[in-house]
Amino acid sequence: MYERTINHLLELYIFAIDVASPTLENAVISAFLLAQSRYNQLPGNDFIIKAYTHQAISEDSLLQKYLVLTAAYYWSPCDDTEEQRKLRDSVPNVFLYKVLETLAQLDWRNPQSPLNTDWCVFHNHGSSNEKEKCKETWFRYLEEETQSVKEV
Ligand SMILES: [Zn+2]
Repeated sequence: MYERTINHLLELYIFAIDVASPTLENAVISAFLLAQSRYNQLPGNDFIIKAYTHQAISEDSLLQKYLVLTAAYYWSPCDDTEEQRKLRDSVPNVFLYKVLETLAQLDWRNPQSPLNTDWCVFHNHGSSNEKEKCKETWFRYLEEETQSVKEV
């Protein structure tokens, strides 16, 4: 279910780039974070390869930033399935380099995850007002999410 969801989100992300809508781009990145939280899964190597080889997705895109940050914060080699292990050699070097760069810059004394603290780390916002509005929205998502988990 998670794989299917993020592949749909990838299509929506490409559409957001296509129509040049930063608002939609931010919303899709939030949906990636929400899916990650709901299914407790990370994008696999197959997805990373896809996102890094797609023509429409640039090196400074939010999606690539999201993939680098989530890998730096949450990925563990032990969690990879056999299928994901086989794909490791095909993961682009630029991605691996950026993950290493992020890891080197992490403050390990305060390893606060942006997933729990500030989703806007993953967004582009024109003004602080826009950022405040965005925060209210994803805060509500998280609250609803926490409630639906409690109800299960
Ligand atoms: Zn935001």
